[in-house]
This record gives sequence, C-alpha cells and structure tokens, in this order.
Amino acid sequence: MLQRAEEILQSYYGYPSFRDGQKEIISSLLAGHDTVGIMPTGGGKSICYQVPALTMEGITLVISPLISLMKDQVDALHAMGISAIEINSSLSVSELQERMYNASTGLYKLLYIAPERLESERFQSLLRDIPVSMIAVDEAHCVSSWGHDFRPSYLAISRFIESLPSRPLVTAFTATATPEVITDIRTLLGLVNEQVYITGFERDNLRLQVRRGENKNKFVSEYIRSHSDQAGIIYASTRKEVDSLQEQLVEAGIEATKYHAGLSEIERKTNQDAFLFDDARVMVATNAFGMGIDKSNVRYVIHYNMPKNMEAYYQEAGRAGRDGDVSECILLFHPQDIQTQKFFIEQGEQSQDRKELEYKKLYTMNDYCRTSRCLMQYIVEYFGDTTCKECGECSNCTNHAELVDITVEAQKIFSCVKRMRERFGSALIAQVLKGSKNKKVLQFGFDKLPTYGIMDQCTEREIVDLIQLLIAEGYMNITESQYPIVMLGERAANVLRGEEKVWQKVTLKAAPQEVNDELFDHLKMLRKRIAGQEGLPPYVIFHDKTIKELSSLCPKDKASMLQIKGVGEAKFEKYGEAFLTAIHEYEERNKERESSYN
Ligand code: ADP
Ligand code: MG
Ligand code: ZN
Repeated sequence: MLQRAEEILQSYYGYPSFRDGQKEIISSLLAGHDTVGIMPTGGGKSICYQVPALTMEGITLVISPLISLMKDQVDALHAMGISAIEINSSLSVSELQERMYNASTGLYKLLYIAPERLESERFQSLLRDIPVSMIAVDEAHCVSSWGHDFRPSYLAISRFIESLPSRPLVTAFTATATPEVITDIRTLLGLVNEQVYITGFERDNLRLQVRRGENKNKFVSEYIRSHSDQAGIIYASTRKEVDSLQEQLVEAGIEATKYHAGLSEIERKTNQDAFLFDDARVMVATNAFGMGIDKSNVRYVIHYNMPKNMEAYYQEAGRAGRDGDVSECILLFHPQDIQTQKFFIEQGEQSQDRKELEYKKLYTMNDYCRTSRCLMQYIVEYFGDTTCKECGECSNCTNHAELVDITVEAQKIFSCVKRMRERFGSALIAQVLKGSKNKKVLQFGFDKLPTYGIMDQCTEREIVDLIQLLIAEGYMNITESQYPIVMLGERAANVLRGEEKVWQKVTLKAAPQEVNDELFDHLKMLRKRIAGQEGLPPYVIFHDKTIKELSSLCPKDKASMLQIKGVGEAKFEKYGEAFLTAIHEYEERNKERESSYN
C-alpha cells in the first residue's frame, strides 16, 4: 500500500520520499484508522491526505476554513494533473449543481468545502448520492475554543459525519496544538479509535530573531531594502499601524501591499493576489492575513509588534520558508506591545477564566521576547516537545555580539527619570535629556534640572531607543495605562549607586546575501510569464527551490529534469519543454560569451 503512495508522490508531486511523520500518518490512514496529524506549518500536511485520497475509491472532502484560499490549493492540484474542485459561496445554483453532479460521477478525487456548507440542508442532500471515502479537516484547531482561531461552524462537522449514510474515514490536521486543543480535536470531531501523530515542532530552516529596542520603522525599511528580491510579510497588531507602515513603505518606493479586516473584500482579494503572484514583494498585514496561505517562497516574516501568544506567533512566523529554504522570522519587541495586547484582552467579551488564560499566554509570549535561551528550543518546549537541541542559529544562539558598556548613559537616564519624579513617558524624558525647548519641558521647569541637556550629543530618537532597551532589560518599568509612565526598577538603583554595570549587545551587521544567479533570475522570469498566461501564482508552477535546482543542475532532457524535486510527470508535460529550452539557450549564449573573451 505504502509503495503505491510513494509512486504517487513521485509521479504527481515529483518528490522522491515522504518526510518524517508523513509516512506514519499515511500508513495509518491506508490501514483505515481515523488519524490526527500535528505537524508544523510547512511540514507537508496536505500531502498526508491528498496522497491517500488518490489511492481510495470515491471522493475525499477537505474542510478548510478560508474559502478564498481553497482555490489556491485546487489550482496547485490541477497543475499536477490531479482532479479537484472547490465549492464556495460565490457559485451560482447551476454551477453548484454541475459540480455536485460531476462529483457524483467520480470526476474529482478531492472536493474542498468551507465548514459553513455542512450546515446547509441543500448541500447535504446533494451529497447523498456521492460516495465519500474520507473527510480531511484542515486547520483542525479551529474546532477548539481554547485555540486561537475558534470557528463555531467547525462544531457542525461531527454532526455532519454522523448524518452520512456510511461513515467515512476522518482525518484532522493542525500545526499548533497544546494538549487542551488536541483533546478538543479528538472529542469534538467525534473521531473513533484515532491514532495521533505529533511530529517535532522544530523547523530547522527558520532563523528566529528577537530584537529589543530597535527603531522599528528604520529597521523594517532597511531590512526590506537589503533583501530586495525576496518576498516577505510584516505583521502589525492594529489596522492603523498596518495602514501607516504600508503607506510609509510605498512612499519610500517599496512595492508593499496590505491586508486587514477593515478593507473591502475586493481590496483584500486584489492585495492578496498581488502578493501571491509576486507582483507586490511585501505584505503588511494584521493577523487577519495568512491562514491557509501556501505561498512557499516567503523568505521572511517580521513581526512589527509582539503577537498575543506563542501559538499565534509560531503560526504566523511559520509562513516563512514553507519550501524548506532558509528563512528569517524577526520579532521586533517593544514593551508597549504588552499594553496593546492587554487592551485587546480587556476589550474582549470572554469570561473571566478565559481572560486569565489569555493573560497567562501573553506573559509566556513576553518571556519569549526577553529570554536569552535558544528561541527554537523555547517554542518547541512550549508545545510539549522537550527533545529539541539548541538550534545554533537563532539570535540568542548566535549572539556573540560585542558588549558595549552603556553604564554612564543609563545613569544619566535613570537620574533624569528620578528628577522628573517618575511621572512621565519616554518621549518627554528624552526631550529633557536632549535639552529640548519644547513647551511642555519649559512649562514644567525641566530646563532647570541638572539632567537637562546632558545627552545633547544623541538624537531624541536614540534616547527613546535607549530608554526602551533599559525597559526591555528590566531596569525600568512602565505603567499599564494609555500613556505609559516610565518608572525605575530595583536594578536601576544599583546602577545609580555604581554597583552594577549596564551592557548593550551591539549586534554585528547581517550576513551578506547570497550572490545572484543569472540563470536563476532568468528561470524565475520565465515562471512568472507562464504564471501570468495561466492566471496562477508563480509558485504553483514550480517552487523557488525547484527553480534553484533547475538553475544549478541544468538538466538537458526529460529524464534528468524529472530527477529534480518538485517536477512530476504532469508538470513536465506542461512546462518541461519551456524550461529545458530556456536552460539550453542560456548555456549556448554563455558559450558564445566565453568564446568571444578568448
Ligand atoms: P502545511 O503542513 O503547512 O499544510 P504544505 O502541505 O502546504 O504544508 O506543504 C509545505 C511544502 O512542503 C509544500 O511546498 C510541499 O510541496 C512541500 N512538501 C510536502 N511534502 C514533501 C515531501 N515529501 N518532499 C518534498 N517536499 C514536500
Ligand atoms: Mg496546510
Ligand atoms: Zn537557537
């Protein structure tokens, strides 16, 4: 049985072998067990149900939370020569009937639907004539109110399964599951004698970083600029922040688009497509963006703010590097982010118990931002896996940065905070240290303080950054109010007395980017052209990784091209010749160039 699955993997997907976890999950399904698969984002969950679906008689229903993104999955299947279709609310009655009729004739192996559908009687009756062999529930954590994306309509799934004439096999997948969530998935989906497989949560191609006390806007625009040929997502907490950051990037000449719940449906769709189709390199978004986004070549995810909990963070950050290539996940931490998240919790209408749970999760997230331990290890342990070794690659593992003694600066700041009687925010403190003639400074008579102007060699922004750093490192605290007030902590007193020194880690410049490969760029252009003609996102044609292999191995014929990961029979039929020709022409041109130099 597994051998047949391996043949399918090779011939349709062009992959030589299953990954860890995939083999176990697929074997379990082929043996007829309900199966839960918990795998990190990008771990390859889709293949776990798609491949068995192809070996089974009848159709597999895939329940997926976001209608707009099903099309993406279906397109990717079509490109590989697999027949699949999605049913969504935009279909007319006759289209719906046609698709259901085709399904009843066995035309499709996979049918993608949103959970809301299951509650429609009309849909249920249309489905009565269709032999359903398996139900795959994607993003299964949505069934749990303990999770972070609770969808009440997921609760209808088990009732729906019971209503079918014969019970199909049921399988469920998610990337983020704490023990409570796993229990909910098992019970609320009504699984029977299920097998549960949890593969490691570690993603060894992700380079995690936490940066404290950064000037965020400056950091983001410089980062984007120095990664100019790469796609990335910037997550911010609020719509307002998304709007202003995106505007600012566009003004700076960066092709950035945006996504949040305040935009119209059409705007969201247009912007999302621009990003998926590589027309806009950068997506600035709230957490409304991304569930089910399968764009495989996202090279970085920057969190402009700290998210509300580790589940949300790892899921969002995990959208980087789904193709397995090295990708960066950077969290820009500012103590104010905690206030923002507390505000969201307070505004929420949950029970007090629930709020307390959210606070607890928030504090764990906060600890992640301040820990000096391996970040990957920290995350993986949070999800209950204690076997992960230090990654050696995250910002804590690699922080051999130079330590700079900033005790004197810290003393100046602490002393100024004290003289201002610990009643003001960082902006005013910085103005006093800078020696500003701002109205408020003069009005309070702060220009008479001995600390007035003692840091006039710095910019106000630099002083504010230093204040943030001292807060993040625990020397000072801020109040939990709308306009947070900076106050001294115990350690600040030690510093003022000269008993403790303050060090700042000055991180060395980021490693230079890899050199640009001309053929790689060339093949990427070809891919974009084909994608444009077919109305598909480029990564559906071939993943970046496949293009990279094509450009380094330069296959000369069908046999050698099929050796490359991500090239299956169907894809070769469609695109093989175009790529072989492009590689051939490139090599010929190069020969000419070389001979003209000789
Ligand atoms: P997720 O678990 O997040 O749903 P996907 O199913 O979207 O992940 O898969 C992520 C990426 O990994 C896809 O580009 C997919 O083609 C690739 N992939 C999955 N399984 C394998 C495999 N056995 N070998 C190589 N690539 C794989
Ligand atoms: Mg998925
Ligand atoms: Zn590490």
